[in-house]
Amino acid sequence: MHMKSPIKRRVSRQIMVGTVPVGGDAPISIQSMTNTETTDVSATVQQIQSIVNAGADIVRVSVPSMEAAEAFGKIRKQVEVPLIADIHFDYRIALRVADLGVDCLRINPGNIGREKRVQAVVDKARDLNIPLRIGVNAGSLEKDLQKKYGEPTSDALVESAMRHVEILDSMNFDNFKLSLKASDIFMAVDAYRKIAKIIDNPLHIGITEAGGLRGGTVKSSIGLGLLLMDGIGDTIRVSLAADPVEEVKVGWDMLKSLKLRSKGINFIACPSCSRQNFDVIHTMNVLESRLEDITVPLDVAIIGCVVNGPGEAKEVDIGLTGGTPNNLIYIDGKPSQKLSQNNLAEELEALIRAKAAEKSHQLESLIVKSS
Ligand code: SF4
Repeated sequence: MHMKSPIKRRVSRQIMVGTVPVGGDAPISIQSMTNTETTDVSATVQQIQSIVNAGADIVRVSVPSMEAAEAFGKIRKQVEVPLIADIHFDYRIALRVADLGVDCLRINPGNIGREKRVQAVVDKARDLNIPLRIGVNAGSLEKDLQKKYGEPTSDALVESAMRHVEILDSMNFDNFKLSLKASDIFMAVDAYRKIAKIIDNPLHIGITEAGGLRGGTVKSSIGLGLLLMDGIGDTIRVSLAADPVEEVKVGWDMLKSLKLRSKGINFIACPSCSRQNFDVIHTMNVLESRLEDITVPLDVAIIGCVVNGPGEAKEVDIGLTGGTPNNLIYIDGKPSQKLSQNNLAEELEALIRAKAAEKSHQLESLIVKSS
């Protein structure tokens, strides 16, 4: 139960995005981005809260204009989560949101223009201890690199990223993280693998414009999964053409699958077949939607019959194995009680909630003892 991940993470230097450490031995943080109009302060605050409730550690907000910068200042005052401002080209917006309390600036130094402007942003970031994120994207590569490589490639992404890195190096500024995104998995994975060998700054990983909820989840899971398995990635964003809350949920599921972080219930469920003794899919759907509020890590197995039920149940906190006339519940790997088909999901929910409360109590007393 809750085996440690065998993944050996790349050693990166740590930066702080507000109160959240990124890189080093910090847990891999999950971020998402608002898609409301930033100038609509109440809608944006509301969306940030939903994103945070889903489990995001950091939230990014687009700041495309000075008007949006002023709105950003109001938003900043109403939420606690660290906020990244996404800025393209206009250095004055970066300076303004820095004064208004931003926790990280996503801006590419090579796109700001004259050196004096870049220096102004770097000086401000240094003074206020604000990290930058360099974000290179295959869709917006510099023209000369497009010409040199003929089309976006992983080498072109790395060369573009290193131009920005060199600008910051020349100003003696190393408080930054980096992303090299492409919607093509091969290109993105290759680019991250290459840059991971060149620099030791933390890496924000993601497959950009991955697609809708299902296709984008699959694409992101393959791309980010490959990188995370290599130990690459200090903070993740799953880009989906869907509600940002879904991005956070998918991010958590990825990290949970790789045992890189734990939160809430890790369900193990069989796909069901004619041997099932209860409706596995219905039970699973009911439990998944009703138990989203549980944050304590718990392994739960929902298995339709004795073919795999007892084996899986031995490895989890709570296991349900289908049987006739009754289904059998295992707690901590041992047979505990029988449950009939009536109100199966409800009774199981109550048992899971009780186990979660017991575990959270145990975790709290462990924390008290160690402090
Ligand atoms: S565990 Fe049983 S019910 Fe579930 S898929 Fe396997 S054989 Fe079918």
